[in-house]
Amino acid sequence: MKKKILVTGGAGFLGSHLCERLLKEGNEVICLDNYFTGQKQNIVHLLDNPYFEMIRHDVTMPFMIEVDQIYNLACPASPIHYQYNPIKTIKTSVMGAINMLGLAKRIRARILQASTSEVYGDPIEHPQTETYWGNVNPIGLRACYDEGKRCAEALFMNYHRQNDVDIKIIRIFNTYGPRMHPNDGRVVSNFIMQALQGEDITVYGDGSQTRSFCYVDDLLEGMIRMMNTPQEFIGPVNVGNPNEFTILELAQEVIALTNSKSKIIYQPLPSDDPLQRKPDISLAQKELGWEPKVQLKEGLERTIAYFNLRFKI
Ligand code: NAD
Ligand code: UDP
Repeated sequence: MKKKILVTGGAGFLGSHLCERLLKEGNEVICLDNYFTGQKQNIVHLLDNPYFEMIRHDVTMPFMIEVDQIYNLACPASPIHYQYNPIKTIKTSVMGAINMLGLAKRIRARILQASTSEVYGDPIEHPQTETYWGNVNPIGLRACYDEGKRCAEALFMNYHRQNDVDIKIIRIFNTYGPRMHPNDGRVVSNFIMQALQGEDITVYGDGSQTRSFCYVDDLLEGMIRMMNTPQEFIGPVNVGNPNEFTILELAQEVIALTNSKSKIIYQPLPSDDPLQRKPDISLAQKELGWEPKVQLKEGLERTIAYFNLRFKI
């Protein structure tokens, strides 16, 4: 059945893919974004669709609309961007959650929070299960993002327990793909742009830290399945690809796939940079019948093809 769906952060990397997919599935989509890290370019191809609407709005301010579902994605996700104005980042997560939960409560809409593996901080438990409470530095440079997202999860749970709001929480692990901003600062887009332009590949630290990279299409499948689970299942649920790589392995793979002459250089590791990260996805497998299908090599090939075409390198 056709639904009216609000996507906050809809002009960003994940949000624009989500809007596109929800429209393809026959829904009416309202995209709300303040264009901090999002771009019109990401959604311009949707503007002709009469079932798509774009609204420039900041989620730290209240917003009123009638919809059936809300996907709350508004928040800068790259360390460079979320540390640019850390107070604003916390406001976006916390006040954004309050405003969107208030809306969901008032109009009785279902609401999904795009939470993050960062709630686990620099994890001591490996791989990370949803029952792990995390190891976050509350006063460090990443806290504006990590603690903002943790507070948003607490708010979601409290609106659910206190006001019976119909909530879903997913914890997204590092996701990459076409439409990442070339200057986004995250590792996959950095390495691909550097390799294609023949620039040095900037590995932070000794490159032994690990991440588990999920391709955008897989992530969205998990996110949409979660939104449409029975009301009793609220999560949080990990959505990510459990195949773990060191950052050095990622750099070598990108160099090989682009036939690049770029050299790897080493730069200081940013503070509180997690040493390891890998999702345990048993809960998603059980409750969503979901697991990722696109493995790193294939996902990187698709992403490299996009960057090649888009930036004509
Ligand atoms: P992104 O930066 O491309 O998208 C975020 C979007 O939110 C942008 O369009 C930005 O303009 C918008 N935004 C930021 N602050 C806003 C505000 N105050 N009001 C309205 N809009 C605002 O990042 P992304 O990778 O697409 O991430 C989307 C969501 O998923 C974020 O909430 C992020 O925390 C979460 N997430 C992403 C990843 C990942 O690997 N991509 C991992 C974990 C969690
Ligand atoms: N990283 C790197 N070079 C870069 C960008 C990032 O070595 O040019 C490292 C970063 O230090 C981290 C990992 O890659 O260990 C993932 O960084 P990203 O910012 O993509 O995501 P997050 O740290 O939030 O998982």
